[in-house]
Amino acid sequence: MRLVIAMMQHETNTFSPVPTPLERFARGNTEPVPYEGDAAIEAFRDTGTALGGFIEVAEAEGAEIICPIAASAWPSGVVEDAAYDYMTAKICDAVEAGCDGILLHLHGAMVTKSLVDGEGPLIKRLREIAPDTPMGIALDMHTNFYPDMATYADVIAGYQTYPHVDIRETGVRAAKPVIAMIKGGLRPTMAWGNRPMLPHVMRQGSGDFPNSDIQAMAQRMEAEGALSASFFTGFPHADIELAGSSAVVVTDNDMALAEKLRDELLDFAWDNRRDFIYEIEPLGESLARAKKLAAETEGSDTKGPIVLLDHYDNAASGGSMDTMKVLEGILDAGLTDVAFFAVFDPEAVQALIEAGIGNETTIALGGKTDLDAIKHKAAPLQVTGRVKLISDGRFKNHGPMSAGMQMDMGPTVVFDTGNVEIIVISSHLEPHDEAAFLTLGIDPVRKKFLGLKSRVHWRAGFKHIAVETIDCAGIGVCTSDYDMLDFKHVRRPIFPLDQVNDPASTAD
Ligand SMILES: [Zn+2]
Repeated sequence: MRLVIAMMQHETNTFSPVPTPLERFARGNTEPVPYEGDAAIEAFRDTGTALGGFIEVAEAEGAEIICPIAASAWPSGVVEDAAYDYMTAKICDAVEAGCDGILLHLHGAMVTKSLVDGEGPLIKRLREIAPDTPMGIALDMHTNFYPDMATYADVIAGYQTYPHVDIRETGVRAAKPVIAMIKGGLRPTMAWGNRPMLPHVMRQGSGDFPNSDIQAMAQRMEAEGALSASFFTGFPHADIELAGSSAVVVTDNDMALAEKLRDELLDFAWDNRRDFIYEIEPLGESLARAKKLAAETEGSDTKGPIVLLDHYDNAASGGSMDTMKVLEGILDAGLTDVAFFAVFDPEAVQALIEAGIGNETTIALGGKTDLDAIKHKAAPLQVTGRVKLISDGRFKNHGPMSAGMQMDMGPTVVFDTGNVEIIVISSHLEPHDEAAFLTLGIDPVRKKFLGLKSRVHWRAGFKHIAVETIDCAGIGVCTSDYDMLDFKHVRRPIFPLDQVNDPASTAD
C-alpha cells in the first residue's frame, strides 16, 4: 500500500497586512522552505499533529509513505500565488506518480491572492488526476467551508477541540476510513451544510457552551457509527462569501443519516447562536481590575498567575503581534512581576543584541506595522529596560497542543523593565505552551501576571495554572470588535452582523 500524505496549512486573515510568502510555510524548519520528503516524516513522526496521526496509521498498515511537502504557516494575510502554486504542484506531482490513498492536512480557511477557497481547487485537481483514489482530509475547526471540499474528497474530519489538542486524533479519524476503502467494502457518504452565523472567536472554546455541547454531539455521533462528524465554528476574520459555521458528517453509504446528523449539529448551533456573542470590556476597566486583584492576593497563598489577554493582536489569527496598547497600559498601570509574551520586532531584537547582555538601553519597541483594515497607524513605544537574556528562540512543545513539534520564534530577547519582562521575538508565535517561557528561563507559574497575545489557544498550556483571566481589548487585525471591520464579501444577512430569523442554509 502506497500513501501520499501532505500538509498545506494556512488560516488567512484577509484584514491582515502580514505577508504570506512560501518562507512563512517553513514553520519549525531551520531552512527557509517547508519540510519535504523523509525530513518531513522524521519531523512529524510521534508528534501531536495530523501528520503524526497519518504516519501512525500508515505505519501500522506497513504502508509506503510519500510526503511531498509538510507546509504550515502562522495565520497572516492572503497567500502569495507563487507559494500556493509551489505547494500544490508538489502534492499533485506526488499523486500523479501513483498511490493507493491520499491523506491531506489542510486548514480549510486558506485564501490566496487569486482564490477565495484555497483548498477546494486542490482537492478537485487531485480528483481529476486520481479519479478513484480514496482521499481523506483533516481540517481545522476554523474552516470556512466551500462545497468543492465535500464534492471531491471521500472523507473529511475536523478538530473537535479548541484549543486544538486533538490534531493528531483528527488525522487518525481522517485516515482510518481511507485505509478501509483501500482494503475494500467501505463507501463513505458525506453531507455538508452551513448556517449564516459568525460565532465570535472568544466564545468558540470547546470548554464553553455552546461549542462544548456541539462537539460532544459530534463525538457521540461517531461513537454511534458515523465515520466522522465535524462542526466547524468558522473563522470570521476572512471577508469571503462563505465565512462562518458549517458541519460535515460522513457515514458508510447512508446519505439520509448523514444529512440528519448534519442538521442536528447545525440546528443546535443556530438555536444557541446568541451564546456565541462576546461582550467587550474597555481596557481601562480591565487593567484597574487586574491591579485590584493583585493587591487583594498580595501576601496570600494563592499560587499562579493572573492572565492578561491581549486578544486583538494574536499571531495565530493573523495579528501583526506588534501593537503596543495593552503593554503600554500594563506599564502605565504599574503592574509588577509581569512576563509579557510577546512583541514581534526583529529590528528591536537586533538593537537589543547589540546593546548586550546586562546593559540598560532605551528603544522604540513594536508598532512597526500599519493596520490599514482598521485604519491604525503604526506607533512604537519608547521603553527603557535591561537586556536580560538572548536566545535562538527554538524549542519543542511540551503539549498538550502539537506536542513534540519543533517551534521557532527566531532570535529572541528578554527585555526587563524592572516590572515587566518583555519577550521580543523575530518570528511569529502564539503562546500556547509552557516551553515558550521555560526556554527563556521564565517559570510562568511563579509570575504574578502573564501578558499573552492570544485568544483561546493559551488555555492549552496555561489555563490550569491561571488564578484569573482578564481580557484586555487592545488594537489589532484580529479585533474582537467586529464593528471595526469593513465586511464587503461575506454573505448577508449573517448573524450577528445582521438580525437573521430564517437560517437560509446552503447544503448539498
Ligand atoms: Zn483553528
